[in-house]
Amino acid sequence: MNKTIMQFFEWYLPSDGGHWNFLKEHCKQLSDVGINTLWLPPAYKGGGGINDTGYGVYDLYDLGEFDQKGAVRTKYGTKDQYIEAIAEAHKNNIEILADIVLNQKGGADDTEWVKVVKVDPANRNNKISDEYDIKAWTKFNFPGRNNKYSDFKWNWEHFNGVDWDENKKESAIFEFTGIGKGWDQDVDSENGNYDYLMLTDVDVSSPVVYEELLKWALWYIEIANLDGFRLDAVKHIDYEFFTRLINDLRTITKKELFTVGEYWSGDTNVLKKYVEETCHAFNIFDVPLHYNFFSAAKEKGNYDLRSLKSNTLISCKPENSVTFVNNHDTQPGQSLESFVDKSFSLQAYTFILTRQEGVPNVFFGDYYGIPNNNIAPLKDELDKLLKARKDFAYGVQHDYFDDAHVVGWTREDGLAALISNGNDDGCIKMFVSEKLSGKNFVDITGNVQGEIKIAEDGNGDFKVNGNSYSVWCMV
Ligand code: CA
Repeated sequence: MNKTIMQFFEWYLPSDGGHWNFLKEHCKQLSDVGINTLWLPPAYKGGGGINDTGYGVYDLYDLGEFDQKGAVRTKYGTKDQYIEAIAEAHKNNIEILADIVLNQKGGADDTEWVKVVKVDPANRNNKISDEYDIKAWTKFNFPGRNNKYSDFKWNWEHFNGVDWDENKKESAIFEFTGIGKGWDQDVDSENGNYDYLMLTDVDVSSPVVYEELLKWALWYIEIANLDGFRLDAVKHIDYEFFTRLINDLRTITKKELFTVGEYWSGDTNVLKKYVEETCHAFNIFDVPLHYNFFSAAKEKGNYDLRSLKSNTLISCKPENSVTFVNNHDTQPGQSLESFVDKSFSLQAYTFILTRQEGVPNVFFGDYYGIPNNNIAPLKDELDKLLKARKDFAYGVQHDYFDDAHVVGWTREDGLAALISNGNDDGCIKMFVSEKLSGKNFVDITGNVQGEIKIAEDGNGDFKVNGNSYSVWCMV
């Protein structure tokens, strides 16, 4: 069966602690429509307590179990609810990817004096001060957990930098100095060196840190029965780190551990280089394809649909691509806002859900809607496309990208898809398979009525309405 991921959260979920229960109640329905992998939000306690989405991670060992940062539970619920929801997902043959946030930590318990230099935010290789001492929030003691699971305490030696000096109440980028310190070198080159993103930057090159994070990941896989990971902010983390960690985890656990990394760049060459430097150890998101969808949504009838595949990760590393239309960072109001709205989102989902290249990831906010952004759910439409993927999107693919406003493709096991962005209805003669000659196809989306019969030579004349999408599947 085709692998299909759903990102099971959006940024503005209510902080009511009800999310893990919501998941538990919806596993069966998701499984029925063909979702077999769920990427869940960061489950551990963030510095912002119940209002933290999880990316400001405070304590990796607190999955909503300890009275820390103002509550026992996280934004999404308690540890017990989390474990129960995962068990229910497994019962429905759904695998779980945990969101791993290892670049930074937030909400330290105490400050300490640390030797630093200030660096230029636009070029972090440029030191703009002499060495001096700041008071940094770098001590993580987790008093509320009281050494359960791990007695590891974090201090400045385990970090590379911060952006706040408590002594002078000054905001800047401070790079820690001393033996073995300095930004990691094998990271994205934006801003000179993009090791530092935010909060306290974890020094993943420290052997002590590696040992602790490996121990933690093994603990986490076992306690939550995880099947894989979504890796946050990999462009800010030394490239060797995750290659080594994921390979070590696979060796020790003997699990496949499907993994997808978030490398946010619209430049396919940068992504390709990362996939190669990490030895194809895991997948990454096809961000350039998302930007093509975004352009198509913005430019509407002026966008040339023949460009959809251009300069994308699926065009050069299809085996390592995870495709997506929107996510929690691209939704309105968020840091990487580039929301593919309804003018093209269903065409984009038709693309990622029925084509051969890449593993598609469906966004919770598209499926269930985003009340905070006044975005309506597309569940009914997406369920039809998911069914097409589950039952028909198999076999050799044939492409028909010849017209600027109507393009299509087929899969030999019995599917023909078309998308359009012009006002006129379209029709493309497409080859499906000689083996299916005489078979009838219907448009599973319901957008075009009637049946289309496959001719003796394996071709069919498939139709699509203007500014629409159709997915013809064998009856
Ligand atoms: Ca970093």
